[in-house]
Amino acid sequence: MSKNKTIVSIVNIEGFPTTEEAIIHAIELIESDFHFNLNSAKQILLKPNLLIGKKDACTQPRFVKGVIKYLQKKEVQIKNIFIGDSPGQFKKNAIDIAKKVGIYEICNNSGVVFKEFENEIPYHEKIEDGEKLTDYYVSKPIKDSDIIINLPKLKTHGEATMTGAIKNYWGIIPGGLKAKYHLLGKTPYEFGKCIADNFSWVYHNKLNRIIVYDLQKIMQGTMGPVSGKMVEWNLVMAGTDELALDTIALELGEVDPDLIPHLKEAKKRELGVSELEKIEIVGMSLKEAKKKTPKFKIPGKRMLKIGSYITSRIVYKVTKKIPILNKNKCVGCQECAQICPADAIEFNNSRYPEFQREKCISCLCCSELCSQQAIETKRRGIKGLFKGY
Ligand code: SF4
Ligand code: SF4
Repeated sequence: MSKNKTIVSIVNIEGFPTTEEAIIHAIELIESDFHFNLNSAKQILLKPNLLIGKKDACTQPRFVKGVIKYLQKKEVQIKNIFIGDSPGQFKKNAIDIAKKVGIYEICNNSGVVFKEFENEIPYHEKIEDGEKLTDYYVSKPIKDSDIIINLPKLKTHGEATMTGAIKNYWGIIPGGLKAKYHLLGKTPYEFGKCIADNFSWVYHNKLNRIIVYDLQKIMQGTMGPVSGKMVEWNLVMAGTDELALDTIALELGEVDPDLIPHLKEAKKRELGVSELEKIEIVGMSLKEAKKKTPKFKIPGKRMLKIGSYITSRIVYKVTKKIPILNKNKCVGCQECAQICPADAIEFNNSRYPEFQREKCISCLCCSELCSQQAIETKRRGIKGLFKGY
């Protein structure tokens, strides 16, 4: 059932000496919506958008810094704060990206531990109301967290139309699996269902969530989410309801939320508050904030179809990494078969493991955890275009 009401704060960053102070204020304005205690949480996980090593494409470091400062102000112990993401296997890992954009340094200096989502065996989870995804894999740090602080950035997106609070959770799916699940959404509308399925798992299983929305510089146009045009909005929003926050972000940019497939789907499934009259705006009024925000330019339908085709077909097929056995190193201990979350490794009357390519989810845990380093990995490359799995 959807909530009756939620609070969203909108804060003008220009009204504060630093962005960090604006962020702290934005979170304090929505504290009455917290039904959890920050100080009793053992694992508070910050989830920024770490897409690629390019500052404009990621959540800004000052947003991470602002949230850490807020938690310190509330006397949360640093040892209980973590940060992580999974950008997808065809790019570098999240730590490399975090280093490039300046987020890693901030975490390191404050003692916040970085969690690479791919480094631990993911959990196999069911999505009760899933349409495209009914069971899938979720990164361990997400599943283990007591509170998630989601740090999305508003950008256009070649397949999903826009990425924001709901879409940012796509990163909880480890590595190359994201690309595999893209294949289930052949059109932008179907991909919207996949995003809503994933969000439904979050909505029903991770009840303690805070969203701090980076609207300082948004990305728009057909080249998002990597190389779109940057536009200054100089705002920060905070809340506990992703659908409400995405709805308000689009209201500021004069875009109908029903044009965004995953928002339309989330609204239909009542995964949050979508009606403006049920969203209490605090801080700036919507009217005031709109004066600062030019129209958010989203890609047209044709561009979305092209984006969807390219990402879900070619990129996945060519960049997928697969495990390859080095028989010279393998000692036949069979541990890889035990840890494989997809039961994709078999020993059929053989000393050596056999990879069942149809079942393999490319998590590469076998490679990571083989004590003999006997499992190497390789990209399928251009030949992957002709593979059925
Ligand atoms: S864990 Fe490594 S050494 Fe053991 S069977 Fe698997 S590949 Fe061979
Ligand atoms: S075979 Fe290796 S890469 Fe494939 S699903 Fe199993 S553990 Fe993951």
